[in-house]
Amino acid sequence: MEKLNFECQQCGYCCSQHGRYQYIYVTPKDVQQLSKYLNLTPKIFRERFTKELSHGVVLNFVQDSCVFHDEKKGCTVHPVKPRQCATWPYWPDNIEDGHFKPGILKICKGCSTASA
Ligand code: SF4
Ligand code: SF4
Repeated sequence: MEKLNFECQQCGYCCSQHGRYQYIYVTPKDVQQLSKYLNLTPKIFRERFTKELSHGVVLNFVQDSCVFHDEKKGCTVHPVKPRQCATWPYWPDNIEDGHFKPGILKICKGCSTASA
């Protein structure tokens, strides 16, 4: 039997743009929690930190990294990070037959698939 292992190595790669991976979507609940955490109104939060695309609202990127990523500190909104981030890397798209897909093992150093 196989199992998925994950232990974040704080490399920050998942917080930066690479290939088709460039959108950190935020739900209305994410916006509510993030704006409260930053002491902003949801409207100001949206104006400062997000942009609206045809397929959803996403966080802004600065120099190819999420606006909330700090090279030394990592995620500066960690306690309230968006659902998309909080559920990484356990996305259904990343897993096949109980294993992380090879592409995910390359992207995320914290992922491995080991025998249970
Ligand atoms: S890519 Fe993986 S190991 Fe690196 S910060 Fe993201 S979750 Fe952690
Ligand atoms: S919100 Fe935090 S965890 Fe999510 S991409 Fe931005 S810096 Fe990374």
